[in-house]
Order: sequence, then C-alpha cells, then structure tokens
Amino acid sequence: QKCLSLIKKTKFLNAYITVTEEVALKQAEESEKRYAKGQSLGDLDGIPVAVKDNFSTSGIETTCASNMLKGYIPPYNATVIQKLLDQGALLMGKTNLDEFAMGSGSTDGVFGPVKNPWSYSKQYREKRKPKPHGENDDSDWLVTGGSSGGSAAAVSAFTCFAALGSDTGGSTRNPAAHCGLVGLKPSYGLVSRHGLIPLVNSMDVPGILTRCVDDAAMVLGILAGHDPKDSTTIQDPVKPFLLPSWTDVSKLCIGIPKEYLVPELSSEVQSLWTKAADLFESEGAKVIEVSLPHTSYSIVCYHVLCTSEVASNMARFDGLEYGHRCDINVSTEAMYAATRREGFNDVVRGRILSGNFFLLKKNYENYFIKAQKVRRLIANDFVNVFNSGVDVLLTPTTLSETVPYLEFIKEDNRTRSAQDDIFTQAVNMAGLPAVSVPVALSNQGLPIGLQFIGRVFCDQQLLTVAKWFE
Ligand code: GLN
Repeated sequence: QKCLSLIKKTKFLNAYITVTEEVALKQAEESEKRYAKGQSLGDLDGIPVAVKDNFSTSGIETTCASNMLKGYIPPYNATVIQKLLDQGALLMGKTNLDEFAMGSGSTDGVFGPVKNPWSYSKQYREKRKPKPHGENDDSDWLVTGGSSGGSAAAVSAFTCFAALGSDTGGSTRNPAAHCGLVGLKPSYGLVSRHGLIPLVNSMDVPGILTRCVDDAAMVLGILAGHDPKDSTTIQDPVKPFLLPSWTDVSKLCIGIPKEYLVPELSSEVQSLWTKAADLFESEGAKVIEVSLPHTSYSIVCYHVLCTSEVASNMARFDGLEYGHRCDINVSTEAMYAATRREGFNDVVRGRILSGNFFLLKKNYENYFIKAQKVRRLIANDFVNVFNSGVDVLLTPTTLSETVPYLEFIKEDNRTRSAQDDIFTQAVNMAGLPAVSVPVALSNQGLPIGLQFIGRVFCDQQLLTVAKWFE
C-alpha cells in the first residue's frame, strides 16, 4: 500500500508506463495469507518489484515505449518475470525507457522523459545555482540516465525495492550511477533473455537495480541459471549468491585501466576514482595500472554491431504480427513502410538504416566482419588483464554526475549516447559482469557511481568486492 501510494505521489517522475495495482494487491493478499500460515514462496515473497517495459509480461501491455507496440499484450512471461513471480514478488508495474532501449537518458520514449528523483532532493535544491532571471523553477529537472531510467527512478523514489532493467551497452549501470543505486549487469549467459524484447542479442543481459549490493546478489540468485528457452544460458548449475559480511581485500589485485582516464572525465569523478583506488591500497590490496589498448575503438565497434543487429531484429515489426498497423492498404510494401514510419521514432529508424547500410553486400566485409574482429580484440584485452592476475577492474561508470534535461537534449542524442557509454559498452562486447556502486555525492549534491568489472562468470567475486566497497 505504501509503495502504491508513493507511485501515485511521484507520478510526475514518469517512472512507470503501466502501474499494475490490481495485480500487486492480489499478490499481496495471497502473500499475507501465506505469511499467516507460516509459509513462504521464497526470498521475494511480498516484496514489491518493478520491471522495465521491454520484458514480456503475460496479459500486461508491453510497449518498449514505442508507438509500434502500444496495445501489445504478450501471451507469456519472460523467464525472469516468471522467476520473480514464482518467488512471490509483487509486480508494481512496467517502467519507462528510451524507445526499444536505445539511448542513455530515458528521454526518448513515446511516453515522455523520466525525471530523476534527485532533482527534488534537499541537497540538490539547496546547492544548485540560482537562475539568472530570478527564482529557480521546475524546468531544470535532471535526467535519470538510461535506458532503464524508469526502473532506476522507481527504486530511487522508494516505490519498489528492486527493479529489472536491461543492459546492452550500459543501460542498467548508467541510470544506477545517476540515481544513487546499485546497478548490476550479470555475465552474458548467466540470466535468461527469453522474453526480453531484443536490442542486440549478442550483448543484451537483464540487469538488476537495487539500493544495496546484497539485494542485487539476492535477486541475481533468483534469476540466474540455465533456461531451455535461451540456448545461450549456461548449462552448469548455479549456487545462490550469498555474500560474506567480511572480506579480506588484502589478497586482491585491482586493475585501473589507463585508457579510461579520458579528457571528458569530470574532475570530481576522477578524484573519487583515485580515492577509491587509494582505499583498496590502504587496506592492503594490490592496485596496479593496466592497459586495455583497444578501448578507443569500442564506441564505433559497438555502433556497427548494434545497428546491424537492430536492423535484423526490428524486421519483425511489420504491422502484421504485433502492435501497430497503419491504415494504408494500397499494397503490402506501402503498408510495411507506413507502419514502420508511424511506429518507430527517428532514433530507431536511424539505427535500422545504419545497420542495413553496414549489412549491404558491398559493405558487409568492410564493416560488419571487421567490427566483429575488433570486438574480439576488445574482449581479448580483458582476458589478458585478468590472466595477468587482476581480480577486478575499477573504473568510473559515467563521465560526470547527471545533467539537467535541457542541457541533455542540446546535443544530438546519438552523439550523447555514444559518449556517455564509454566506460560501459566494452563490457557488453566482452560478456563480462559489471556493477555500478554509488560512491559519494558531488559538490552539487548529486550521486556519482563507480564501476567494478569482473571475470566472466565470476559474478560472486565481483559482488563480494562491491559489497566490501559500498
Ligand atoms: N546507450 C546504448 C545504446 O543506445 C546502450 C543501450 C542499452 O544498454 N540498452 O545502444
């Protein structure tokens, strides 16, 4: 009830696309009955959670914040949704995002931008500079980051205890950093993608947003494991992710990638990054500078691979099977074209066009195949560093704290998204686990996060280090 009333009170944040009040209340009633009988379905029994609106939910509209899927009601639950429900979690609703999860601000969905709850925090209100013309008004609210900004705002505003995002190039870690939360991108293959509407199949991973590392570990334990419906999931059984309350970090080797010290990095983030490294060192950990030499190719490489997979993935939205269909019926081709013109925003259409360009017969070798080779080099950089004895990498999550919406939209969102993901995208291309942990508030009173990157399938070790640090 408290969470539902907070959802109503914070409606102006635009965190939710659909609030599933009836579902949540019914589940809560059943959970209460179980509780009275001393029974429990599992660790999440009676716990309010929210999920990004690109996970299929049986009988509940799933839009991807796109005109294309408005009104689309999936007939099945994504595996991760089913796992949450099987544990007794209460589904509060479906959260807002950039259309089809393409973006890093949560400003580009058809339902409008998500507002960062920190825009209204006392710390920020007191510290922000007065406008040149008189009083501060409400127009300088801050973006949440994205594309899982609705999920981040939902947890940050206390409307639920955990939320699912998706992470293809940083979409869970980026909004977590901007909203003062823990944002976990598990190893590729640890958590099923069945029912997550794809952006880039070879990089997508369901992500977890929570207020502390222990909560993220608990949710991961519930979601992780083989799924016969996703052939890319691991076959080996997975143990629950229980984190020790005390960790001896003196045996750890922490790597600091020198290529991540980019000129665009804000001085505040840089100094917190250094302080964090010093903290590990003062506790006896070995902290060394390492090199990931192909980092500078990561953004362009991601771009070629992402848009190529997008071009292929988006072909299914043709006006016949799902969601929107236009009124034009002169020919099948005209219907396809008009449906897709009306259904997709310009970011999505732009990516489809770029992807089809890279996939043209004459360009395929030169772009797509080359990008795949570069992707391998980027992944190998990480392998080499971990083989040299590094346990975990420590990096910034984002270049700076979040910015006001009006500043964010000044730049073309394609450029913006490309810059913002500099510390996060390579991890997806390499399939590694990574987690953003809130570290401190900036001079402006806004949250800043740092990222830990672990060895593939060493999610437990990664979270253990993150918990020690938090
Ligand atoms: N910002 C990146 C993109 O737009 C990543 C998105 C994501 O992780 N879903 O492709």
